[in-house]
Amino acid sequence: MMLRSSLIRLASLVVGLLITTLGQTAPALPDVDWPLHGNTAGETRYAPLATIDRGNVERLGLAWHFRFDRPRGVQATPIMVDGTLYVSGPWGVVYALDARTGSLRWQHDPLVPPAKAAISCCDVVNRGVAVEDGKVFVGTIDGRLQALDATSGALLWETLTVDPEQPYTITGAPRTAAGLVMIGNGGAEFGVRGYISAYDMTTGRLKWRFHTVPGDPQAAADGQISDRPLKQLAQPTWTGEWWIQGGGGTVWDSMAWDPQLDLFYFGVGNGSPHDRDLRSPQGGDNLFLSSIIAVRPQTGEYVWHYQTTPGDSWDYTATQHIVLTELEINGNARKVLLQAPKNGFFYVLDRATGELLSAENYVPTSWASHIDLQTGRPVELPGARYPAGQPALVTPSQIGGHNWQPMAFSPKTGLVYIPAQESTGLLMKAADFRHEPGRWNTGIQDHPMPTDAATLAQARDGFRGHLLAWDPVRQRAAWRTEQPGLWNGGVLATGGQLVFQGQGGGGLHAYDAETGVRLWQSDTWLDVLGGPITYALDGEQYIAAAAGFGSSLHLSASLSLPRQGMPVPGGVFVWKLDGKQALPAPQSRPAVPALPAIEASNEEIQRGGELYTRYCMVCHGAAAVAGAAIPDLRYSPYIQSGELFSLPLLEGILQQRGMPSFARTLDAASAEMIRSYVIHSTATARRQGVE
Ligand code: CA
Repeated sequence: MMLRSSLIRLASLVVGLLITTLGQTAPALPDVDWPLHGNTAGETRYAPLATIDRGNVERLGLAWHFRFDRPRGVQATPIMVDGTLYVSGPWGVVYALDARTGSLRWQHDPLVPPAKAAISCCDVVNRGVAVEDGKVFVGTIDGRLQALDATSGALLWETLTVDPEQPYTITGAPRTAAGLVMIGNGGAEFGVRGYISAYDMTTGRLKWRFHTVPGDPQAAADGQISDRPLKQLAQPTWTGEWWIQGGGGTVWDSMAWDPQLDLFYFGVGNGSPHDRDLRSPQGGDNLFLSSIIAVRPQTGEYVWHYQTTPGDSWDYTATQHIVLTELEINGNARKVLLQAPKNGFFYVLDRATGELLSAENYVPTSWASHIDLQTGRPVELPGARYPAGQPALVTPSQIGGHNWQPMAFSPKTGLVYIPAQESTGLLMKAADFRHEPGRWNTGIQDHPMPTDAATLAQARDGFRGHLLAWDPVRQRAAWRTEQPGLWNGGVLATGGQLVFQGQGGGGLHAYDAETGVRLWQSDTWLDVLGGPITYALDGEQYIAAAAGFGSSLHLSASLSLPRQGMPVPGGVFVWKLDGKQALPAPQSRPAVPALPAIEASNEEIQRGGELYTRYCMVCHGAAAVAGAAIPDLRYSPYIQSGELFSLPLLEGILQQRGMPSFARTLDAASAEMIRSYVIHSTATARRQGVE
């Protein structure tokens, strides 16, 4: 690998010299990689490349596109190293593509058992690979970490990072630091105990593991580096028998590394169940939920933590993108850590010590008025914890003021560009909560999505996404754009004073980094949610983004994607100045076929809607309108009769395609209520012309 790439570099140097000697134009720009998930170890997602700038961005055209061979959601940030673009598609399939042409060099399918889709909260997505030392590292939905040969795609090693009996999944990108590869996992909506692991890059051997939530105090300690901070700091902040459901605290996305300070940072997720009263009945902060933790990368030794949401009851993860940079604060240059977690406040921390320097809300917040800078704690507002019998409208909703879609920081403007979103959620204690192993276990009452046109329009208006340019020193907005839908995608900032952002519902947009004026757009008609990247080869600057249908976007598909096309596989789109490729055309969706008659009372339809929302919606879409490449039940032949409907739902005939049997949870009567709800809501939507 090393020898081969050295030879290639030597050859291109010779060619370059020849061209120069012949008096032709030499490449004005050296080749520039996008080597890490966030481009740098501090994950700024900024590239100084400035060939494409505000003056010429309108000339951007498609250079090439590559279509994945598997449908479903796409959230990856690609990596570009030495002319090869590495990107992960759904199910953790890795594609290595020629970064100039898009031609496939190799692909690797981890062959995940399809039934694992049922324990994935938000689709079988994968947010990217890590590339280092001639290896490509990827996590799989079923909890494996794999190392592939970067040249051939051959599997070098793999290791199971989770207990396969527990509903753990991996959707996040691994990161490399200090010769190790780090990976966390997800599953807190189903009931697991979170942790992050570090493996030797060469052998795949576990070096350390840090649990974020204490285990059963009566049981033996884990024998891991987290034992001491869990005993001394975390355990006193929990009450009751939280370990039965795991407690949550999954490390499912953000990490960053500061080699100078020798600190590795990771974000910790929400509690499980969501409602603290169920998890830790006598209260408590429940460390290390919703926290940022700093450890030594070599050993995992605890150094500091900062908890953004003590005693989380709102699914307010602190797993959102972490950015490391330097800011001048009160005349002093400070090494800072920036985060805009789901709870709606933007945090500036001293990353050497974890000291809170400032925090202001970047979207409206109804759960807390402000962050007290003396105590470092939020000042909660009355009723926000939805006590029994008092449902609460809470802003931000569980979707968060900002979710996993990465932000970017430009040192040129000093601004952070946040894919922010505004939404309000109705929170109410579940009437009949009981922990069901391996199922959705949040403790929050499920509300079926309304199907009448007026309420649907109102709900749609209540969800807004916008690109927010945030001044982290003054803690205030510099500018913001309005987006047509809730889900706006990840962000890239460039030295050309441009900000690129994708969108749910399709398209990549470019904005003036100083003013927010939109200067260019390209309609991919596939959701562009992961972070776009930029790189340079042979004197040309490229912009690349992965796109697809699916991810948790389908939760709000019927709300935010009125112009949904047919679900097809996603892929990678790459643009350059004067690119001449044609964009692939969308396919339109056929009309909903004739619906069978149903005999169900309003109560049964209502109950069917509750069951649908709890067990089916996360895959098949709100109000039975699927937004992903998962079958849309309105078109399904299985809704034609109760007998047919029970074949996949109770008898499991589609298990190999990822549809599990619900026979342990549902009976024939509940199946019929769900079927009646699907038909009823489809018929209602059709009558009102909103299908
Ligand atoms: Ca969550």
